[in-house]
Amino acid sequence: MKIALIAHDKKKDDLVTFSIAYKHILQQHELFATGTTGQRIMDATGLEISRFRSGPLGGDQQIGAMIAENNMDMVIFFRDPLTAQPHEPDISALMRLSDVYQIPLATNMGTAEVLLKGLEHGFIDFRLLAQRRGK
Ligand code: PGA
Repeated sequence: MKIALIAHDKKKDDLVTFSIAYKHILQQHELFATGTTGQRIMDATGLEISRFRSGPLGGDQQIGAMIAENNMDMVIFFRDPLTAQPHEPDISALMRLSDVYQIPLATNMGTAEVLLKGLEHGFIDFRLLAQRRGK
């Protein structure tokens, strides 16, 4: 599975903690991230991550483009709902594309745990999802 990891600044510590806790699952997949988030996770976990640009500089759009090309299977995006973001349009576009292509999208740690545990135990029928989006 190709999994994208993104966290807004005030949520980066949470995503690092989450990545350490779920490293045993994440390491079985191909990981992508926005610039700063990816660096933080790599430093803390040693996981191998392909990094895009920082979110405000286009990283969310790059991940959105992968979704549009049917090239991303899951997005874990720890959003900060309490801070205005300069790249809000890009964030909305990424979430919109996730819905267009029926990509599992977690916007908080609770949902992210369910998704990764679903992956671990084979509860997510990715073939069905792939069929629905015509992959
Ligand atoms: P960053 O981008 O990982 O480069 O900080 C994330 C974002 O703010 O969208």
